[in-house]
Amino acid sequence: MNLENIAAAARACTLCAAHLPLGPKPIFRISRTARLLILSQAPGTRAHESGIPWEDASGDRLRDWLGLDKTRFHDAARIAILPTGLCYPGRLARGGDAPPRPECALLWHPRLLAPMTALKLTLLVGRHAIAGRLGPRAAASLERTVQDFAQPLRQGLFPLPHPSWRTKVWAAKRPWFETEVLPALRRAVAAALAAEPPVSR
Ligand code: SF4
Repeated sequence: MNLENIAAAARACTLCAAHLPLGPKPIFRISRTARLLILSQAPGTRAHESGIPWEDASGDRLRDWLGLDKTRFHDAARIAILPTGLCYPGRLARGGDAPPRPECALLWHPRLLAPMTALKLTLLVGRHAIAGRLGPRAAASLERTVQDFAQPLRQGLFPLPHPSWRTKVWAAKRPWFETEVLPALRRAVAAALAAEPPVSR
């Protein structure tokens, strides 16, 4: 199956519809030529309504971290966006968004990622994305994992907190995030995006 057919199958998925309060609506963006992958957690209500990922204050913060304007961020040929759960998962009773549906990444990530052979860098945005690639212990010790970004970066992975308003407070208490992590992140993103495009076959 080619990438377009796999993406169409994912967009038609209803596997966990019974658990989704607003129903299935997978939000993701992939391409064979993408150099940078933003692996996130799950769409929020705004993305569910608009179908466009990261069009909110968290997206603005993420773009600032990456050193990208909206035009470059939404260049689908170079930047792919794949949540850990592709559909909005609803809210927790105690507040905050529910975690991504656990069956989703198991079902779709291997199929969607296999044809994306041009990727140079994957950003792991938030605990769920970090847990999926680096394991639950890395996600549980988020601060240490983010501070020790150099090790996963050697494998093409860059762990980050979710850029929510809470992280603004978190980052203000951890000046190393601004002075060490963000400059390295911007260099890694610029290098990935500057890489030669793949030869089309
Ligand atoms: S969250 Fe994932 S598994 Fe569930 S319906 Fe959406 S695409 Fe399918």
